[in-house]
Amino acid sequence: MRLINHFIDGQTVSEPGRLGDVFAPSIGQVQAQVELAEVSMLDRAVTNAKLAQREWALTNPQRRARVMFAFRQLIEDNMLDLAELLASEHGKVVSDAQGDIQRGLEVVEFACGIPHLLKGEYTEGAGPGIDVYSIRQPLGVVAGITPFNFPAMIPLWMLAPAIACGNAFILKPSERDPSVPVRLAELLIEAGLPKGILNVVHGDKTIVDAICDHPDIKAVSFVGSSDIANYVYQRAAAAGKRAQCMGGAKNHGIVLPDADLDQTVADILGAAYGSAGERCMALPVVVPVGEKTAAALREKLIAGIEGLKVGISTDPDAHYGPVVSAQHKARIESYIDLAIEEGSELVLDGRGFSLQGYEEGYFLAPTFLDRVTPEMKSYQDEIFGPVLQMVRTETLEEAVGLASSHQYGNGVALFTQNGAAARWFMHEVEVGMVGINVPIPVPVAYHSFGGWKRSGFGDMDQYGMDGVRFYTRSKKVTQRWPNSGGKVIDQSFVIPTMK
Ligand code: NAD
Repeated sequence: MRLINHFIDGQTVSEPGRLGDVFAPSIGQVQAQVELAEVSMLDRAVTNAKLAQREWALTNPQRRARVMFAFRQLIEDNMLDLAELLASEHGKVVSDAQGDIQRGLEVVEFACGIPHLLKGEYTEGAGPGIDVYSIRQPLGVVAGITPFNFPAMIPLWMLAPAIACGNAFILKPSERDPSVPVRLAELLIEAGLPKGILNVVHGDKTIVDAICDHPDIKAVSFVGSSDIANYVYQRAAAAGKRAQCMGGAKNHGIVLPDADLDQTVADILGAAYGSAGERCMALPVVVPVGEKTAAALREKLIAGIEGLKVGISTDPDAHYGPVVSAQHKARIESYIDLAIEEGSELVLDGRGFSLQGYEEGYFLAPTFLDRVTPEMKSYQDEIFGPVLQMVRTETLEEAVGLASSHQYGNGVALFTQNGAAARWFMHEVEVGMVGINVPIPVPVAYHSFGGWKRSGFGDMDQYGMDGVRFYTRSKKVTQRWPNSGGKVIDQSFVIPTMK
């Protein structure tokens, strides 16, 4: 059986110890095993990273950018192989896996601009002979802990800006689909990254805890479910680290009576069921405003959902593939059971679905539940599967109130042709990322990504300028050269002293 090793100091590293199963969700079998590190492996990675980082930080930003340019090209050249490997472990269809890599690639492109992004600020003549400037310096060794659902994009969100800024990076990817992160590390070495600057340490809670506690790791970036995000945030902060921890989501799509319904339904289908609903920016809640809108939307949604094709990840016609594991499939099914018990109307039932020839795969057909209400636990919790819930409202205010008072605040979308309503909605809604006629409003790489409330712990977002700020600290310098220019300096400007 294939064994997935750690990647330390520019090469794969193996150590006998605990192993985790890596499944092939389309066929429901174990396809590989991943090494689960003990703390000594993290220590080894950090020691190497610390040694390599000093010289990397002294490498001028243009040279660091050149590594990113070469990396960008290598990802593009290897796109299909990476996408197939990713799809085989995650279960998403290959075209979706390409999208996963593409969105990460865009952050690598952003990091290619690091010479410009790291430029500081300068004020000449803040006083007589006095200039003030600020610069950004890398933190040292930093770490990222990533979830299963975007095994290329999310590691790239973190490692590209962190490394371009002059840090060394320790990546702890999800143990459920760990192969692509190792391939990315190999490609970065091929692109010219010095050994030791990117290290991949596979593992579970043992390594996550050790990352939070390690005195030589200066910052932790985390993406995953909210309880763990909060836990990592608290633990890393208690150890004096900078931390940004993104959590779960339950995004609402609000539909006004004037929306273009055909376009809206096409958007909602992709956003609710694409990637089997395993996206933090999926749209699992649809909120029609007014009974007429609800009735028309329901009819069109049913027709659209019935046209969706579930298939194996290499089926080019499939709209989505299996979910990641048998355990996750059972969890989603139990939420559908709960939703029915709580009084939702089961319009389309995805449970008990079996794909011919792939009966052991972790497939679920699309589920559609209507007449869901806010006090239901199945509405309050993140289900993270191909399940769409409809909550009917009478007014836009009521719909916005739903999204604003939900425990999660990652994304939200409004479908309308009314600019004034859209503008009011955008201003009022208490959610971090807002779409107007855009179902999955993931900001482009030169803006930043981050949700509110239990979707994001910490005050800096991923990538964009926040990425640069997170992985650097600013130094402010006030310098005085009183005799410069040979002129007599006015002594009335005095720097505060003990006198
Ligand atoms: P997860 O929380 O189970 O795992 C995320 C990481 O935490 C993994 O690397 C895992 O090894 C580690 N981990 C798991 N249990 C741990 C524990 N008890 N202690 C310490 N570390 C632990 O999340 P997942 O199932 O891999 O990913 C899906 C979740 O991630 C969903 O909730 C989804 O909404 C969220 N997500 C959020 C964003 C965002 O940007 N807000 C993006 C993608 C995914």
